[in-house]
Amino acid sequence: MHEKLQPVREAVIARNPGEKEFIQAVDEVFGSLGPVVARRPELLDAAILERICEPERQIIFRVPWVDDQGRTQINRGFRVEFNSALGPYKGGLRFHPSVYLGIVKFLGFEQIFKNSLTGMPIGGGKGGADFNPSGRSDGEVMRFCQSFMTELYRHIGEYTDVPAGDIGVGGREIGYLFGQYKRITNRYESGVLTGKGLSWGGSLVRTEATGYGTVEFARQMLKTKGDDFDGKTVSVSGSGNVAIYAIQLAQSLGAKVVTASDSSGFVHDPDGIDLDILREVKEVERGRINDYVQRRGGQARFTEVGKASLWEVPTQVALPCATQNELNGADARKLVENGVLAVAEGANMPTTTEGVHIFQEADVLFAPGKAANAGGVATSALEMQQNASRDSWTFDYTSTRLTEIMKGIHDTCAAHADEYGQPGNYVAGANIAGFIKVADAMLAQGVI
Ligand code: NDP
Repeated sequence: MHEKLQPVREAVIARNPGEKEFIQAVDEVFGSLGPVVARRPELLDAAILERICEPERQIIFRVPWVDDQGRTQINRGFRVEFNSALGPYKGGLRFHPSVYLGIVKFLGFEQIFKNSLTGMPIGGGKGGADFNPSGRSDGEVMRFCQSFMTELYRHIGEYTDVPAGDIGVGGREIGYLFGQYKRITNRYESGVLTGKGLSWGGSLVRTEATGYGTVEFARQMLKTKGDDFDGKTVSVSGSGNVAIYAIQLAQSLGAKVVTASDSSGFVHDPDGIDLDILREVKEVERGRINDYVQRRGGQARFTEVGKASLWEVPTQVALPCATQNELNGADARKLVENGVLAVAEGANMPTTTEGVHIFQEADVLFAPGKAANAGGVATSALEMQQNASRDSWTFDYTSTRLTEIMKGIHDTCAAHADEYGQPGNYVAGANIAGFIKVADAMLAQGVI
């Protein structure tokens, strides 16, 4: 790390004790910015680094709700409005028991640079709650969402802050949240949330966008080596929104996807994942991944979490699409040993710092989440455009825009990596390109 960045990093650690995921995200970005601050000392003089690490606003609130047994439950809700230099705060809501301020801040920090890379006018934010929707009835999820929005509504708006989904927040939850926002404010403000249903302001392709975009980014990386997905063996982790559509597009490009997972373990299906069965088990029944194996039969096998790693399965392209830090140094070593060619992060920060270094040292094509999974938020911005013009676009038109945006992000990352002397380093390219645009806007807007 550049010597001038070191004291800023130490101050960030001192100001944010115990927030290890946030510090990991800051380290990853700072690790790339040495050549930028060496060339642009005015950014240090204006304390851009200190300011960019301090959220503009952090909201923490009580979320009381009543479960099906009539018991009162209390959760903690968060919204971190991190940076509005480029536009209204934009970023998803995560409902998962592991959510605390450090997770929300890591996600919000990443979101600043990701949103900048999309080329759309959106700032960075993130939120969520330590609520576990798993095993809860629809009625319980609805009451939780209504209570959550009863506080959140006063902080958000089309021109202020526009939340969306993330882990544990899909179409069902966005529906309940939007309904409560409309009820409290008495306004049909479509642009206040994205990921809405198609008949009430949603956009075609938004559901598919993150998974499709991740595969498109990987396709662009492979193309630089004259290669493509056709005939490749691919490993995907997760079985939620991002994973399902990553599997779908990879398969349609001729790849054989052999793995999927959830928090209970992973399946290895050497004949190729049957997406219809996987969707029935995970999307329709909200069941466990082991049910896939029971229904699929054949060579499909389930491995319980902790017994072995999904990344031990030999593969040519790895797409981690579940959660942060799910691919560690030992996993990366195994993937390299087995000849992996490309890794594209569908999830946010799924690879540990050690894992990233191992891929880079082995010259594996490696796409960080803030670039590879930016298709989701980019399509959210397309949803906002449609809402603002009271229009709805066709699938083909929207999907073409997504593909162009992903190619644009790929090329921007590659060009900035070249310009700053690190050709082929997509981590450096993404951090530098994402940062410079936000930093320039902050400089122009003065000390705020
Ligand atoms: P979903 O809730 O739809 O799916 C999450 C998947 O990951 C599930 O299979 C879940 O398993 C698994 N998972 C969650 N936490 C853990 C854990 N601690 N250990 C193992 N597995 C886990 O979420 P998404 O698909 O939307 O999000 C996945 C990742 O992609 C996240 O990192 C998210 O931040 C990122 N992302 C999502 C975007 C989007 O548009 N949805 C946009 C950009 C990034 P289980 O079913 O057991 O809970």
